[in-house]
Amino acid sequence: MMGPTHAAAGMIAAELVLGVSHAPPIYWPIGIALGAAAGIIPDIDHPSSFLNQRLPLGSTAGMALNHRHFTHSIVATLLFSVYLHWLWPMVPGVLLNATVAGYFSHVMIDELNPEGDQLLWPLPWMISLARILPYPITFSTEDWMEIVILRNALWILVILTIVQPKLI
Ligand SMILES: [Zn+2]
Repeated sequence: MMGPTHAAAGMIAAELVLGVSHAPPIYWPIGIALGAAAGIIPDIDHPSSFLNQRLPLGSTAGMALNHRHFTHSIVATLLFSVYLHWLWPMVPGVLLNATVAGYFSHVMIDELNPEGDQLLWPLPWMISLARILPYPITFSTEDWMEIVILRNALWILVILTIVQPKLI
């Protein structure tokens, strides 16, 4: 899926963590922003992704990694979590968990793609919900189901839950 879709999913995942954790209201804006940012990180392995084109080592990472393999796995998500907690020990845990949720939302949303993720890296299988769920429940990147339906639904949900956090 594309960056705006993943950013919205990352925000919603972060909101879920913030809501379940009963995070103080002051944490919500930064937690949601961190979730959105983390939601686009896994696609650093794609040559045309936002991070790949803008980070100093983005293109190097893109060349070293196959798209939707390591960065789209449970292992990468766990390593990202460990790294964040090591890097920012002074940051409240709920914000770090919201960030990790944003990252993992990317991995989960890409499960809708027929190409799938190497979710269980280092095991070689590309796993996709498209193997059990038909179109239009699962669909390719840039399909109208992503651009028109999923992306808009996610962004409407983001706006609704920011305006009315009790929906979470
Ligand atoms: Zn991806």
